Amino acid sequence: MEYISTRGGMTPAPFSATLLEGLATDGGLAVPETMPEITRERIESWRSLSYAELATEILSFFATDIPGPELAAMCERAYREESFSPGIVPLTPISEEISLVGLSEGPTLAFKDMAMQFLGQSLEYVLRKTGRTLNIVGATSGDTGSAAEYALRGKEGVSVFMLSPQGRMSDFQRAQMYSLDDANIHNIAVDGVFDDCQNLVKSIAGDLEFKREYSIGAVNSINLGRISAQVVYYFWAWLRASDALDAEARQTFKVSVTVPSGNFGNILAGHFAREMGAPIRRLVLAANENNVLDDFFRTGIYAPRAAAETHATSSPSMDISKASNLERFIFDLLGRDPERLNAAWRELDETGKLDLSEELPRFTSEFGIQSGTSTHADRVATIRSVHAESGVTIDPHTADGVKVAREHVEPGVPMLVLETAKPEKFPDIVFEATGERLALPAHLAGLLELPQHVTEMADDEATLREFVAKRALRA
Ligand SMILES: *Cc1c(COP(=O)(O)O)cnc(C)c1O
Repeated sequence: MEYISTRGGMTPAPFSATLLEGLATDGGLAVPETMPEITRERIESWRSLSYAELATEILSFFATDIPGPELAAMCERAYREESFSPGIVPLTPISEEISLVGLSEGPTLAFKDMAMQFLGQSLEYVLRKTGRTLNIVGATSGDTGSAAEYALRGKEGVSVFMLSPQGRMSDFQRAQMYSLDDANIHNIAVDGVFDDCQNLVKSIAGDLEFKREYSIGAVNSINLGRISAQVVYYFWAWLRASDALDAEARQTFKVSVTVPSGNFGNILAGHFAREMGAPIRRLVLAANENNVLDDFFRTGIYAPRAAAETHATSSPSMDISKASNLERFIFDLLGRDPERLNAAWRELDETGKLDLSEELPRFTSEFGIQSGTSTHADRVATIRSVHAESGVTIDPHTADGVKVAREHVEPGVPMLVLETAKPEKFPDIVFEATGERLALPAHLAGLLELPQHVTEMADDEATLREFVAKRALRA
């Protein structure tokens, strides 16, 4: 399997090369040249596999340049019950129709661990094999950063420069990242919002000379290694949701999946899984007040908002107004034609808007995508009602998902909601909703007390460059 750019200007590259790059060399995003196709029989044959074994099967379609036994060893190391919990990804019913898919059992209590633990393993492998070093420059609105840092701390040949929006993360998110004192981890708090951080990263990644000189790479949600690792749990969720059915019922069984969304990475993996043959009826995108993507999927018009218009909400990891990964979906929507994609991006640049309303009927009919929005009041009401009805406590991002999922339930089609974080990370809103004071697990409670290691920085590219150049690992 080789990877091409959505913008048509990159020589096809193998999987391990896309791991080390952020954007493709032409500024586009790497996508599989063709989407692997997996039959129901094949999926059925995976029913008894452990999560790590299933990951090995699915990732072997993407990482064709990593030998099978190496890939299996990476997946075993990435998805250990000691780092997650028994079963790795448990399904929990919260009502007759809706179940949660537990993606936040990992070390940072958020679903980013699912992808990042694999990426940490595969990066280390590729760097060791090529004798290269890599300096990750990334942006986080909370969970990506800590997941990346926990997956890469202490790993050889790689260092992490992680930009976060100052004052826009929870105390726990800050403590989790800034308490790390590994020499290869650099936390940078930028005076701005997440999109400012992301723009800084993009401008550095867009400077090919700087990028080459300092071996700059990315692990943000456009990284293809992450997207492909996320594809795995869509298959896993379908298998677990159908375990109790008999063989005949399984043959026609489909689920719908609601995904609390920000940068469109998680749901893009769902789109990939569905294109590959995962029996998914609807992919429902849940947005918070920053609902640019909900607008797009309801109207066909994409109008990204300026960073200054991004609301700081109580589901902060979804406070994104310009979703990088959407380019990969639009590429598929436009028939995987780079010329049409480039024309669309020109329209967006010139007018600030991209009108794809002619394609709107295909969003659902061909791609199964629908969407909805949830607000702070919805999150509080949903955390409260789920707690009252099922005894399960959910976090505000998952609550956005459940709120929108309830509006899209269809008779006879189980609805799965991806749980993207643990409620313990957001104790204030949980207390507001349920009156329950959640305690952090003992091994995490101590984090809040630890000294924090962070450099405050203006939203300024030159300052960032200088900081990175001074501390980057050199081969
Ligand atoms: C990152 C994140 C999201 C959004 O996922 P995307 O892949 O950016 O769409 C939602 N919830 C939580 C808790 C997250 O950390």
